[in-house]
Amino acid sequence: MAGIDIEGLATVYPNGVRAVDGLDLHVADGEFFALLGPSGCGKTTLLRTIAGLESATEGKVRIDAVDVTRTEPGKRGVAMVFQDYALFPHMSVSENITYPLKVRRVSAATRAETAERTAGELSLDGLLERKPAQLSGGQQQRVALARAIASRGKVLLLDEPLSNLDARLRLEARTFLKKLQRDLGITTVFVTHDQAEALALADRIAVMEAGKLRQLGSPREVFARPANTFVANFIGSTPMNLLPGTVSSTSGSETYVDEVGVVSVAGGSLSAATFSAPAGAEVTVGVRPEYLTLASGDVTGPALRGQVVVAENLGTQSLVSVDCDGTLIGVTVPEENEPEPGTTVVLTAPASRVLLYDRESGDLLARQPATVA
Ligand code: ATP
Repeated sequence: MAGIDIEGLATVYPNGVRAVDGLDLHVADGEFFALLGPSGCGKTTLLRTIAGLESATEGKVRIDAVDVTRTEPGKRGVAMVFQDYALFPHMSVSENITYPLKVRRVSAATRAETAERTAGELSLDGLLERKPAQLSGGQQQRVALARAIASRGKVLLLDEPLSNLDARLRLEARTFLKKLQRDLGITTVFVTHDQAEALALADRIAVMEAGKLRQLGSPREVFARPANTFVANFIGSTPMNLLPGTVSSTSGSETYVDEVGVVSVAGGSLSAATFSAPAGAEVTVGVRPEYLTLASGDVTGPALRGQVVVAENLGTQSLVSVDCDGTLIGVTVPEENEPEPGTTVVLTAPASRVLLYDRESGDLLARQPATVA
């Protein structure tokens, strides 16, 4: 087992694109680590640079404390599963799984034993003699995983491992993958553009934009306290409300507060805790629909007032859009509690769930790193 250290890493393609642009990361031994970001942000390039399939232009990659920056892929101790699985169509499942061992001249008896054992671990029993074309998408994905695991790498690299599966199979495969990673305890880095997948699977997530790291944290941290408005926009199945606001009062000093202050936004005001900005500062106020509460009666203290526009059914919840002085604000309510369109409602949020961002840079106005309530 092994950790991965990435230091000042840049990968520049011959056309001049800096796909990875100066990254520092540490993936701990045994960690399940997600690289998350929109298409083109450099996730796959970073994974391929760790594998040695792209060469680093600047910086270093260390695996298990050994500098592998210039080591060829086959000698890095990594096993990679590609998005399209890259199975050999003319080989049986058993031959596919054990191909890396054959290349290393492992004996036929050991290969057969490895194929049996790994197929058992990945619920592929009884399929060892089939060809890939005779398998379902989910089974093909497990064969690709089995081949990676059988090769006994120190590190497992997965490029969009679930993206070729349909929605239902994807959920099953997600649970399977998480359990497998826990059972094997193998350091695993996976690439995804699906924030829900990253939140569900990873111990920690690196959110990337344009080759750079925008936030590194646990799923809970990146969900509850996005470090900037880019991450706030990207994470969450219902988008975070990001509203222009002005700090109207603070209970702390003139220049910053660490306690609760009040920020005025369209439709009223909200309390916010632990931010650093003076009264009068123009900010972007971030509050998730899930952390807003909808009331219809009178409320004392900071609140937003508006009219219900529409409610969208999300299953056990609905997303209600409220027009607050011309700004639409989303709030989730439990099923069958949706107010009628046109109803006047009041929205409140706990101060600890109201985040303030610098209007210009988009960075979280927190004095200290996130602590999650
Ligand atoms: P996706 O989710 O769409 O796969 P990604 O985040 O994995 O995207 P990369 O595939 O790493 O992003 O691409 C990062 C940037 O590098 C993009 O601008 C892409 O166009 C560019 N790029 C990728 N591969 C090459 C290449 N072989 N030559 C030149 N530019 C490339």
